[in-house]
Order: sequence, then C-alpha cells, then structure tokens
Amino acid sequence: MDFSVPDDRPAQPPYRGRFAPSPTGPLHFGSLVAAVGSHLDARASKGEWLLRIEDVDQPRTVPGAADGILRTLDAFGFAWDGEVLIQSRRLDFYHAALVRLQLDGDVYPCACSRREIAASSPPASIDGGLVYPGSCRTGLAGGRAARAWRMRVPDRVIAFDDRVQGRQQQNLERAVGDFILLRADGQFAYQLAVVTDDAAQGINAVVRGVDLLDSTPRQIWLQQRLQLPTPSYAHLPVVTNAAGEKLSKQTLAAAVDPAAGSAVLAAALEFLGHPVPADIRAGPLTDFWPWAIAAWSIARVPALRSVFPGQRLPP
Ligand code: GLU
Repeated sequence: MDFSVPDDRPAQPPYRGRFAPSPTGPLHFGSLVAAVGSHLDARASKGEWLLRIEDVDQPRTVPGAADGILRTLDAFGFAWDGEVLIQSRRLDFYHAALVRLQLDGDVYPCACSRREIAASSPPASIDGGLVYPGSCRTGLAGGRAARAWRMRVPDRVIAFDDRVQGRQQQNLERAVGDFILLRADGQFAYQLAVVTDDAAQGINAVVRGVDLLDSTPRQIWLQQRLQLPTPSYAHLPVVTNAAGEKLSKQTLAAAVDPAAGSAVLAAALEFLGHPVPADIRAGPLTDFWPWAIAAWSIARVPALRSVFPGQRLPP
C-alpha cells in the first residue's frame, strides 16, 4: 500500500547559482571570497553551481588567465556543474539580444564621444562615470555616425531586495542614464552579456561582490525588456586592503595559492561572518567543504560594502 502524501506544492525550480570571474589575471583573494560565498550558498541549498568565464571584454582579457582560474578553483576543491560557459564564444547570442531590443525600440545608436559627453557637464553617475545626457535619444544629428548602441532607461525607481544588503532602489535615469550595450570598439557591454548568460544558464540565484550592486537595476531593466526572469541577488562585501581599495589586479593583489588549502578558504569564509574552528582551518579540504556547507548561513554575512583584514565584524 502506498502511504506517501501526494505532493501538490507548486514545482520549485532547484537553486541554480554561479561564479563568473573575468579572466583579467589570476584568482585573487577578493574573487575567492565571491567564489566561496556563491558556492556555499548553492550547496547549502542543495542547488547547482555553474561557472562562466566572463571574457566578453576582450581588450581586458589576459591570455591563459581563464585556465589558471579554473585550475586554481579545482585545486581548492570547488566542484562545478556542467560545462563552463565562455562568453567570447557567445557573441551571436548577445547580438540576437541586441537585435531584439532594436526591433522593440529599446536601444538607439549614439554618436557621442566621451569628450562630447563631458563637455555638457552632466552629473557623475553611480559607477564613477557620467550620466548620459541623452543627446542622441531622439536620433542622430545630420552627418553624425553611430559609434555605440545605448539602452533607453525609464525615469522611475527600480527596486529589489538584496539577500545581504537589504532593500535597494535606483532611478536609472538619474543614476546612470541610457547605458551602452554595444561599445564604440565593437565589444558587447558586460550588462548585456551577463543578463543573456544568467538566463541561458537558468541562474535563479546570483551571489557576487557588492561592487556589482549598482549594476543590478540595469540588469533587472534589461531582463524586463527581454522578458527574462529576474534571479534573487545577494551582494557580498568586498575585501579591501588597509587603504580601503578593492583588491584587484590594479592594487596588485597577490594570486591565491591552492597549496595553502583550507587556511585560505577559512580566511575567505571569516570575511563572510563565519568563524572557522582551528582544526578545520588546519585540516584537509575534504573536511573543510562539508563543514562549511553545514555551517553556511547567508544571514551571518555582514551587510557591509567592504571588509578589511582584521576588521571586527558586528556579532
Ligand atoms: N565578471 C565579474 C567580475 O569578475 C562578475 C560578474 C557577475 O558576477 O555578475 O567581477
């Protein structure tokens, strides 16, 4: 006799997260923190964790860096699901998304150079550039050639609940203005590639560094216009050096060494508000991962934008 209770709950899609490093250099401690956080959040939810190499920005791509990052992740015992998606092989998909936006009138060609935009003294944008003043919004002036394609943004607030940073709100027109999807150098912009690929990989939970928090409303707007689902978002604090600068190639962050094993993974996890017992820190990777998956709670990640080594975290 079958005593099982019929399961009539709506089908829940399984958790699908990802780590999406840009191969601009070796994996450094800052990216390791994002890798650890996204991996643990996926595994603690019994979900999948996918990898994507974000080499859409070819001028910034360093030959050999992608292989180095994958080897380092493997040596640290990260286990990813399925094929690694490589953005430089997906240009046709970004082109198709752009064509769709063109057909829908969501994008327009823009002839403005950086100098011309600066000449109109627009306010600073949220990402350190300038708010595009909309000069080409109603069409190119006679004799002007298109350099880039821009996405129209609405004059309204886009809001979302970040699982770490809390409620976020941004008016895209005031914060960034119409933003570039195809650059003057012929490269697709990160914003278009990331939205296309998160949807293609079926990602429903994004866990990444807080430096991308301000990009999220642009990505949500693109998802809405392309009729793609919006994943949940969790933005982890980024690790800064003592001078408060984000660790990156520019600040000469050292590559992480997998020979350091659990100790360096433990240090990454401590930045995320999870103290690691001494025996786990000193033990093998095969002990670290099951312990960390069981210990993970995103509620313990500090809702801060940055954390520096030695900082006392709120309890
Ligand atoms: N490729 C980006 C980076 O390495 C991450 C993009 C994302 O997670 O959405 O900073």
